[in-house]
Amino acid sequence: MNAKPSSSTLDFDVQRVRADFPLLSRTVHGKPLVYFDNANTSQKPLSVIETVDRHYREHNANVARAVHQLGEEATAAYEGARDKLATLINAGSRNEVVLTSGTTQSMNLVAYSYALPRLQPGDSILTTVMEHHANIVPWQLVATRSGATVKAAPIDERGELIVEKFFEMLTPEVKLACVTHVSNVLGTVNPVREIARECRRRGIPLVVDGSQAVPHRPVDVQALGCDFYAITGHKMLAPTGTGALWARREHLQAMPPFFGGGEMIREVRFDGTTFAEPPHKFEAGTPNIAGFAGVGAAIDYVQSLGYDAIRAWEHALLGYATERLREIPGLRIVGEAADKEPVISFLLEGAQATDLATLLDLEGVAVRSGHHCAHPLMQFFGVPATLRASLAFYNTREEIDAFVAALLKVRKLLL
Ligand code: PLP
Repeated sequence: MNAKPSSSTLDFDVQRVRADFPLLSRTVHGKPLVYFDNANTSQKPLSVIETVDRHYREHNANVARAVHQLGEEATAAYEGARDKLATLINAGSRNEVVLTSGTTQSMNLVAYSYALPRLQPGDSILTTVMEHHANIVPWQLVATRSGATVKAAPIDERGELIVEKFFEMLTPEVKLACVTHVSNVLGTVNPVREIARECRRRGIPLVVDGSQAVPHRPVDVQALGCDFYAITGHKMLAPTGTGALWARREHLQAMPPFFGGGEMIREVRFDGTTFAEPPHKFEAGTPNIAGFAGVGAAIDYVQSLGYDAIRAWEHALLGYATERLREIPGLRIVGEAADKEPVISFLLEGAQATDLATLLDLEGVAVRSGHHCAHPLMQFFGVPATLRASLAFYNTREEIDAFVAALLKVRKLLL
């Protein structure tokens, strides 16, 4: 982490970038907004907002059904998002990208369509203590149905996965391993490539939750070597209700459909319905077409800035915010992994996280308080909740100063 601006961060024109995000210029309770809840959902650039607006004004129709011009345009926007997602994560083929409503749906698709038919009593699924509930509960649901169990590999006090322990727990009854690429609470980056290599050596498929990775770092699913990779669009500038599941072609071929209905069939007959090829086999019903038009625009925006610039700026902010927070008496940062993305969870001695977040809101500062959909992680740290400041490339050092000043002010009120 480097708190000092580097030459690449000096080149980053954050004010120009901020001008692309209309919401960032609003006030909250009469104060300029400081939006530090990006891990929850990101703000959207004008290009995404205008693409969605234009879709409904000019191109709205259903996909893959009509031969008319509008139908073709809507299909092109929807399928174009698939192409862009495939390129973004370096999928082997666009047909390996199933469009979903987000990581939650992606995980449930793997759970019900891939895992459930393969699980037997006595089998287990290995996950970790730092997961979002979306990477725990779907596995618990299919484990209950099949007589399997879910095990969780431990982390250490710094909030890093104890990788050797994870490998030790990859015993023969483990039929699926599931890890997050980046923790939504701690920002910890897991060594997915190393984990995938070990899983592969043992013949255990690996599911990766990429929700918090794609907004911050380039992802290459082929280089990572995992089997499944889940993405959610709304944390990466795109509209809510968009996401994807990347899976190796052989897995998608072998998986039965999860939802049934229109769009996912080849022929419906009462003596035997046949299904479309993947990925369409998993995309029943009318999807969030305007949302996926927005996904395309979001990816264009990310690529116009480039991950190098995004990372350099965000990591300078992370270093600066960490340094400034350490100045506050009684403040404890929870999770200080060596490799982390710009997410900082913390506690302030003597103050409740929710009280702090409520008072910070009155100062115009949006941070999240609570368990962050990660109960087992809270149990590990022995706390009911943390405050979380999660940054994005459109944030500034001045906002960090305003946030720290607000924190010092509300600390005085509470203590
Ligand atoms: N996994 C992680 C690490 C997350 O941060 C989130 C969202 O908070 C999810 C999964 C669930 O994403 P969604 O609600 O978009 O499906």
